Amino acid sequence: MEKTFAIIKPDAVERNLIGKILERIESKGFRIVAMKRVLLTLPVAQGFYHVHKERPFFKDLTEYMCTGPVVLLVFEKDGAIKAWRELMGATNPADADAGTIRKDFAIDLEKNSVHGSDAPDTAAFEISYFFSQTEISS
Ligand code: GDP
Repeated sequence: MEKTFAIIKPDAVERNLIGKILERIESKGFRIVAMKRVLLTLPVAQGFYHVHKERPFFKDLTEYMCTGPVVLLVFEKDGAIKAWRELMGATNPADADAGTIRKDFAIDLEKNSVHGSDAPDTAAFEISYFFSQTEISS
């Protein structure tokens, strides 16, 4: 069973959307195998987004990710990485398909409510960045 990593970002936690987003995840057949709510520090956010460190939006993005608590999640199903990207929708909510989480909940390109791993190697890095093996139970 493939695992992927997700974040419910500060804009969604702040607007009490945790339950609505988890409901969409579970109703699509994903099984949540790890979950925690935390306030990220700037160094932790910078380490998580290190692949974007040369991008012009890196400073804004990492600061935004520390503006309030987030929910960190690992969930699984066959083809979970691609399926979660599809359920999230395009990075910019203006381009996201109807029925996706970003189309329905995101505020803008930065405050786009959810994160999802984009490939098996990034999923493995992102899961291990936040969760130890003993925190994940299939
Ligand atoms: P994702 O995989 O769909 O989350 O998109 P990316 O990996 O390209 O970008 C990571 C995150 O950075 C996005 O989810 C947005 O929150 C943010 N982001 C992406 N592009 C921009 C941008 O042009 N400006 C700002 N402010 N944030 C951006």
